[in-house]
Amino acid sequence: MAGLGYSDARRQAAAAAAQAFAQGKGMAEATRAAIAATDMFFDKARRVLNLDPLLKQQACAAGCSWCCHQIVAISAAELDLVAEAIAAKPPEARAAIAARARDAATKGAGLDQRQWWAARIRCPLLEDDGLCGVHEARPLPCRAHNSADAGACRRSFEGEPVRTPVLAAQQGIWAHAQAGLGEALVQAKRPAEAMNLALAVAALPL
Ligand code: SF4
Repeated sequence: MAGLGYSDARRQAAAAAAQAFAQGKGMAEATRAAIAATDMFFDKARRVLNLDPLLKQQACAAGCSWCCHQIVAISAAELDLVAEAIAAKPPEARAAIAARARDAATKGAGLDQRQWWAARIRCPLLEDDGLCGVHEARPLPCRAHNSADAGACRRSFEGEPVRTPVLAAQQGIWAHAQAGLGEALVQAKRPAEAMNLALAVAALPL
């Protein structure tokens, strides 16, 4: 990226999360800080790189959820933020998430990303209306997902070998931000191993 590097997104996310830890905050707050820093970085990239024409071409819209049927690799910090959002829901909503998570864990046990996608296993946080049940708290890879062709996403979901046109800058910025959050976790001596979001939600005491 001209004048801006993905490494800047990583550094800024890492610094924001590290500052949260230094202030005695927990992993959910550190994730929130990394997300806020990355939102600011993305806005700068949008202006500097003139991304608006490309962003206008994006097909992503509320209720479109083809991309919510893949393994989402997250850190314990992202899980903490998701767990907070789930805990704030009424009991029946938590029970529905727990049931969907158990179902995903059963169907997806031992599957790699390609097999998981082929099995069309939905994220347990995806609601029946196609909306993310934890939108504000969604993990960083979910913020990276984008597509300029929802039809291509659907065809891929249905098993057609098709490449989806994506805005690489959005993918790259959020992927590097997640790496930065991981660095802050390591520095703070917190667990930094990647985990499967659906399986991790299944293991939560909901
Ligand atoms: S957390 Fe939300 S955005 Fe991410 S895969 Fe699940 S339903 Fe989709």
